[in-house]
Amino acid sequence: MAHRVGLFGGTFDPVHNGHVSIAQSFLDSGNIDELWVLLTPYPPHKQEKKTTSYQTRLDMLEAAFAGMEKVKINTIENSLPKPSYSVQTIRYLKKEYPDTTFFYCMGEDSLAKFHTWKFYDEILEECDLLVAQRPGVFHEETQDDILAHTRFVPHTPLDISSSDIRDEAKKGKSIQNMVPEEVALIIENEQLYS
Ligand code: ATP
Repeated sequence: MAHRVGLFGGTFDPVHNGHVSIAQSFLDSGNIDELWVLLTPYPPHKQEKKTTSYQTRLDMLEAAFAGMEKVKINTIENSLPKPSYSVQTIRYLKKEYPDTTFFYCMGEDSLAKFHTWKFYDEILEECDLLVAQRPGVFHEETQDDILAHTRFVPHTPLDISSSDIRDEAKKGKSIQNMVPEEVALIIENEQLYS
C-alpha cells in the first residue's frame, strides 16, 4: 500500500490541546500513516490580522507535538508563493512525493465552510478529505460533490480555539489547561498575547 499522509494546515497562533487531540484522532482512524502539520505563514482568510512570528509559532508547534513521532511539522508553505492556498501546497507535495497518497485533514467546523475556500473543487481533484467529527456542528448542508470526497473520523471534541487563548491571555487569565505545558511556557516567557 502507498504511504498515506494526512495534511493538517493552520495558523497555530497558538497551537492548543484541540489541535493535539484532533491530530491523534486522524492517526487513530487508521486512514493515514503520518500526519504532516502545515504551518501557514499568511492564510488567505486571516491576512488582515496581526500574527505571531513564524518562528515562534513553529517553536510552539515543535514543542506541542514533540511526543508524537508520527506527526511531522512541515514548513513548506513558508517557501511557496503567498498567500498560502491549500491547493498550491497539495500540488507541490504531490509532485515532490509521487508515491504518497495525501489526505487533507480538518475539523467539521472547517468542512462547513469548505465550499467558500478558493479553489475548493480543485483540492478535491487532488485528494480526499479526512474530517474529524464534531457533535453539534452541522454538515448536513455540505454539498454532495464535497461529501463524495470526504471520510469522517470519530473524534471527541475539545472546545478550545486559538482566539479564546489569545483573549484569555490578554485578560491576564491562566491558559495552562488549554495548551501543552511547553507551549504555555513559551507564551508566558515571550508575553505573546498580553
Ligand atoms: P483561530 O481561533 O485563531 O481562528 P483555530 O483555533 O481555529 O484559530 P487554526 O490554526 O485556525 O486554529 O486551525 C487549524 C485547524 O484546526 C482547522 O482545520 C480547524 O478546524 C482545526 N481546529 C481548531 N480548533 C479545533 C478544536 N478545538 N478541535 C478540533 N479541530 C480544531
